[in-house]
Amino acid sequence: MLVVMQSHATEDQVRAVCARIESLGYKALPVPGAGRTAICITGNEGAVDIGSLEAMPGVIECIPVSKPYKLVSRDVKEDDTVVRIPTPSGEVAFGGGAIGVVGGPCAVETREQAFAVARGIKAAGARLFRGGAYKPRTSPYSFQGLGEPGLKILAAVRDEFGLGIITEAIDNESLDLVEKYTDVIQIGARNMQNFSLLKRAGRSQKPVLLKRGMSATLDEFLMAAEYVMSEGNYNVILCERGVRTFSDFTRNTLDLSIVPAVQRRSHLPIVVDPSHGTGKRHKVLPLSRAAIAVGADGLLVEVHHDPDRALSDGIQSILPNEFAQLVAEAREIAAVLHHTIN
Ligand code: PEP
Ligand code: MN
Repeated sequence: MLVVMQSHATEDQVRAVCARIESLGYKALPVPGAGRTAICITGNEGAVDIGSLEAMPGVIECIPVSKPYKLVSRDVKEDDTVVRIPTPSGEVAFGGGAIGVVGGPCAVETREQAFAVARGIKAAGARLFRGGAYKPRTSPYSFQGLGEPGLKILAAVRDEFGLGIITEAIDNESLDLVEKYTDVIQIGARNMQNFSLLKRAGRSQKPVLLKRGMSATLDEFLMAAEYVMSEGNYNVILCERGVRTFSDFTRNTLDLSIVPAVQRRSHLPIVVDPSHGTGKRHKVLPLSRAAIAVGADGLLVEVHHDPDRALSDGIQSILPNEFAQLVAEAREIAAVLHHTIN
């Protein structure tokens, strides 16, 4: 159930409606929009008795929400959510026509490696650096990431280059540490349905980048975001990173058609990761162009200064100068849609 407030409803009126909902034994989650606030009612088993709510001052109407997801839905908030990431070089926005660009190595390997890539990312005009200190690897014998020393290197990258940091938490334990160092918490594809991790991320003050599971449907993807939002964290950026199909010429099949599908159903921004989406270095530039053309709110690209010697995902990592070309081309394509890379 959704309680739609009038555009001129006061904060006191919103508070009073929330209090009434809570007194009925439900949970009230206000979602402020550009034009009006909507209040989501959750925690109800069956129909909510709306009689007393609809008559309250400031309320326009109560509408039942038939979709399984609520907070992520455009029914709750018509205007695009713009997730703003504070970085030492100013805010980077995702959504509402603003395109955020993120580059960095799959994994933080050494300080020298991270600094070399960060230098290239910055020269290309990007302000967000992504690198994993905790890596969810298919094999337990593959490089698992440096852990906290890797997070310290990321903090040094922020200090040295003024870049904002995105890094992955693979479980609740690593999230406790990750959130101290990072500007954005990444939840990886393999954890898209790790519900306790999603809830923990939902209790964090830091924005969350949520990757689509490798066989997740659109509804499952949106429900994962709903988990994060239901705990109070509304700063969620979705990320398409390819899904498993019978197609065997790429690592995954980049499902660009999910971008407009998400944008139709949800107000949340969605970015595209063409690196995991293809697994092939030479496909990253063409699929990045396509992602911007389809209306993506951002790009997440793996970049390495020496990809042939990378400890993970070198095969899909591009060189810093190739990343610079990618950003320049993305800028031109974005302009056609009146979107801007920031
Ligand atoms: C990554 O971002 O390096 C990663 C492991 O991605 P995914 O979770 O999409 O496989
Ligand atoms: Mn990777």
